[in-house]
Amino acid sequence: MPIDATQPYDDQNIFAKILRGEIPNRTVYEDEWALAFHDINPQAPEHVLVIPKGAYVCWDDFSAKASDAEIAGFTRAIGHVARELGLLEPGYRLLANAGLDAHQEVPHLHVHIFGGKPLGPMLAR
Ligand code: AMP
Repeated sequence: MPIDATQPYDDQNIFAKILRGEIPNRTVYEDEWALAFHDINPQAPEHVLVIPKGAYVCWDDFSAKASDAEIAGFTRAIGHVARELGLLEPGYRLLANAGLDAHQEVPHLHVHIFGGKPLGPMLAR
């Protein structure tokens, strides 16, 4: 079910539980600002999620409320992960769903990194 991204942060969401170590994940990278792990239901040969350590519902919440250091740290982590996965030369796609029309399912900001094959046009029609 898609979530309403205007609602307050729910600390019982599944990515909050992953950040607290309450449920397992397949970690790709972690630093002070971000955790990156394999998506449980991959939509491409490489499908990694990068999430900020802070409690932000979606991109809107993050861009409005996160500190400059959090935004810089999270953005650099996404770039670092894509680079370390070897995706720069073949190319990759970033996606951050926000709210109902985008079908965001987990109410903790996450950026999808897709790669490992030609991904085709951007939007399904
Ligand atoms: P979105 O529709 O942008 O909210 O995407 C949520 C993503 O989280 C989906 O691609 C799911 O497959 C993924 N996901 C849900 N639960 C887990 C989990 N426990 N570990 C890894 N990925 C997950």
